[in-house]
Amino acid sequence: MPGESHPYSECIDRLQVNGKDYNFYNLTKLQDSRYEKLPYSVRVLLESAVRNCDNFLVQVEDVKKILDWELNQSNSTEVPFKPSRVILQDFTGVPAVVDFAAMRDAVKNLGGDPEKINPVCPADLVIDHSVQVDVARSLLSSAPNPGGGRSGKASSVSPFKPQTFTAGNSSPKLAPSYNNSSNGHQWRQSSIDPTQSRIRLRPHSKRSRPTKSPLCERNSSSKCEKQFCNSSVGQTAPELIPAVHNLSRFPRAPCKGAAGCCREACCRLPGNENKVCDPLCPFHMKISVGAEALEQNQNMEFERNKERFNFLKWGAKALKNMLIVPPGSGIVHQVNLEYLARLVFCDDGWLYPDSLVGTDSHTTMINGLGVVGWGVGGIEAEAVMLGQAISMVLPEVIGYRIHGVLDPKTTSTDVVLTITKHLRQIGVVGKFVEFFGPGVADLSLADRATISNMCPEYGATVGYFPPDAATISYLTQTGRSTDRVAYIEAYLKANRLYRDFTDASEDPVFSKIVELDLSTVVACCSGPKRPHDKVPVSDMMADFKSCLNNKVGFKGFAIPADKQSTVLPFVYEGQEYTLTHGDVVIAAITSCTNTSNPSVMLGAGLLAKNAVENGLGVKPYIKTSLSPGSGVVTYYLNESGVTPYMEKLGFDIVGYGCMTCIGNSGPLPEPVSEAIEKGDLVTCGVLSGNRNFEGRIHPLTRANYLASPLLVVAYALAGTVSIDFETMPLGNNAEGKPVYLRDIWPTRAEIQEVEKRVIVPALYNKVYGSITDGNEKWNSLAAPTSQLYPWDSESTYIKSPPFFHNMTREVPGYRQVENAFALLNLGDSVTTDHISPAGSIARTSAAARYLAGRGLTPKDFNSYGARRGNDDVMARGTFANIRLVNKLVSRAGPRTLHIPSGEEMDVFDAADRYKSEDHQVIILAGKEYGSGSSRDWAAKGPYLLGVRAVIAESYERIHRSNLVGMGLIPLQYQRGDTAESLGLTGKEKFTITVPSDLSTGQLLTVKVSTGKEFQALARFDTEVELEYFKNGGILNYMIRKML
Ligand code: SF4
Repeated sequence: MPGESHPYSECIDRLQVNGKDYNFYNLTKLQDSRYEKLPYSVRVLLESAVRNCDNFLVQVEDVKKILDWELNQSNSTEVPFKPSRVILQDFTGVPAVVDFAAMRDAVKNLGGDPEKINPVCPADLVIDHSVQVDVARSLLSSAPNPGGGRSGKASSVSPFKPQTFTAGNSSPKLAPSYNNSSNGHQWRQSSIDPTQSRIRLRPHSKRSRPTKSPLCERNSSSKCEKQFCNSSVGQTAPELIPAVHNLSRFPRAPCKGAAGCCREACCRLPGNENKVCDPLCPFHMKISVGAEALEQNQNMEFERNKERFNFLKWGAKALKNMLIVPPGSGIVHQVNLEYLARLVFCDDGWLYPDSLVGTDSHTTMINGLGVVGWGVGGIEAEAVMLGQAISMVLPEVIGYRIHGVLDPKTTSTDVVLTITKHLRQIGVVGKFVEFFGPGVADLSLADRATISNMCPEYGATVGYFPPDAATISYLTQTGRSTDRVAYIEAYLKANRLYRDFTDASEDPVFSKIVELDLSTVVACCSGPKRPHDKVPVSDMMADFKSCLNNKVGFKGFAIPADKQSTVLPFVYEGQEYTLTHGDVVIAAITSCTNTSNPSVMLGAGLLAKNAVENGLGVKPYIKTSLSPGSGVVTYYLNESGVTPYMEKLGFDIVGYGCMTCIGNSGPLPEPVSEAIEKGDLVTCGVLSGNRNFEGRIHPLTRANYLASPLLVVAYALAGTVSIDFETMPLGNNAEGKPVYLRDIWPTRAEIQEVEKRVIVPALYNKVYGSITDGNEKWNSLAAPTSQLYPWDSESTYIKSPPFFHNMTREVPGYRQVENAFALLNLGDSVTTDHISPAGSIARTSAAARYLAGRGLTPKDFNSYGARRGNDDVMARGTFANIRLVNKLVSRAGPRTLHIPSGEEMDVFDAADRYKSEDHQVIILAGKEYGSGSSRDWAAKGPYLLGVRAVIAESYERIHRSNLVGMGLIPLQYQRGDTAESLGLTGKEKFTITVPSDLSTGQLLTVKVSTGKEFQALARFDTEVELEYFKNGGILNYMIRKML
């Protein structure tokens, strides 16, 4: 950490907290009245600039520019930003580690020291994107009843009345209770982890018979056996004990089996010490689907991804500063929120704000905790890991004032979908949004995180909530230590980075202010194809009907009138059902957006409980699933008692990871798929995710609605989105009376009461105390320990990429574009998913042919996301989305026209042919090119296809910088120009001359083979980007710097 020679040494200050001394850069010592007018998010940028000022990467001038934010925010002023850390998930993390390994090779080949290639700031990688919903309730079709996966008769016993338990009987009358045993043994769990599918059980002795005493049962030693209990001997802990002692279902320490302690029957037989018992579904007295599905999904995840996981283990060992969170632990942003985030770093006695970039667009979730950070492409993240500053344009900051009170029937998901639509309409792309106003004080930290999570959907760079008292409470609630919380709070207050939302005098200056009155928020979904197409739940039926009629587009499927009543019968598990348009076939409680928020998760559980108690059910063919973002969710759902009800409706835990949210929704039951295809039906997915672009969730769900976990349960119960919940019942109860959604919807007060009871710091300590321990499968992976990665030429997952193969020490200079053909002529809103899909590899695709040529069968193809460590697959997967609309061909799909021959072929094959003919290629596109998730392969893929430039009407922020990072030219039509208005068909040839004195914001002339010329803006926004372009890309630039 810099000392007295630092340009801002006069700002260095000391802070004493709980008897400990800390150093920090005190920005109030700048004695500049502009500081306290700055938005809080900009203050974090300023602190970083002051602290990292070295008059090289960060200059005193940069500090002045940020201080002058009010003046500079609207004039594209460029400033550097050095985040404190980086987060990665495995889809983007694998290619990043592959690049590090390849850069080590390149540095060595060019005569440098490969050890110099290491992250210089903390880089945390969470393996969460690989697990798929291969198995869920609807796919355990051998089950003779909806809840069970093994043989045996369904039981009509109540799930919560203790039943007779006869251990050792192969057709047992098992009870979901620890309390009865006919053979003299009590049964206890000895090793259970919420993230593990199997529970190891061993017998209690009679001495450990459970007691119903409310007193703490501390044993003769000084510590209570119950892991979460801090009570003194004999002391009653009325609030804590019921909550924490029921958790004895899970800890590894002996369980005292409090009444109601476990719904799973414990059935390890005496003398059969190593037998693993299965948790039983209390409704059917059979193995729970959750246990079976979870285990099978995890097994398949490891089978598919062994090579990748092995490689990541190499990275964790070979690269310094890199933490890998093993698969099965949770979702990156939830783990970040609950565990990884520091809020304030303490580094060798120096305090400074936590800030980050992540290789995932929803990195913004952490803005809810007061941490400035956003998603970047893998390429930019690698530069930060190599000690570079990010170059950014000083943003406008939109102040989003929240006031009013939320209706008790609405949820934070409704708020976020409302905000998403609102901010999309306002237009906040490239801007910061900072929330303020008295309504913020009433939002829980988790609610704020949900709103920040969907920042990419409303288009802003960050959706920031400055830290306040609720932030500090959340740190305590999630088990951060008292000492840590104390210095965090003291530092934030000392540096004016902490605020009180009810005190308007603390409001900073904003570029513009917009408002939301919470009382106007109604229950809603978003869809059927875009996250900002909000539909009030009350309008869903009519809206879906109009979508069937509308022409094909974001709100239309163009189903002919005579086909709109199509009904397809099918047989599933021996029963006849029918499917029609609007029917729900996937209902998934998924995504860190919502799984990080206990209120909506518990709300879904309470709704499920009310539904089951009213005799409602979910049709068995609907693929229902629950994918928590951390083990904490499992604990509190179990503790609240809602788990059996969720399982009864099919919302069994199927894995810990992104799953349906990222499109890893797995297969539908065959009869369902066949009916959909046969009837060309617009069937629906309903999910608590944040993205629903066509093709993302499942190829066969053409309509996908984002909704709160409660509404996911509601639509699963209804079985269709074509329902008016106000007038149409969900079903009848035992008395034959209709049950409406309003009859079973839990109130906010009910949810809050449960939340207060079950969310305790001990949950977080328990889960995160062992988060990096891994599991048996992960720990048994043998990874190489060498400095350079020993590439395996047989691997189809991990391959040395060709980016640096012919690299020289000399800077190559600007690449020109001469007589290039248009590889594709695209329209508006082409997403990174169109450019580089993450989902399954179609059997007829170029990538499939490559993999088949390497001896793989389709079941081993895995997804594109999982194969990002293999450039051969990724090049072939570029533009391989079946929904891609290319104006050069007549039908949607991954096809294009090879212009010289007039032949139609796969995009990869056309690119390959152009290359072999020595022809360059470019891409023509419309508005918002590259929107959607940040995806470095959406730039790397086109680079490998030989694309030299893209000419688009506008770009998504991260994607544009990724194109620059790969040495491609992002050209932008001048305002008012489009391919159509310029008369371009895409069948012309294009020449773009790049002058040697190219500067930022320069117009370049594009010469067309028809003789026409037009000017377009070269979107190199900063001097540093020009340097990257000159070097052939950011990584080449970094390698040359290391020599
Ligand atoms: S938003 Fe979805 S895909 Fe992204 S990290 Fe969260 S769960 Fe995973």
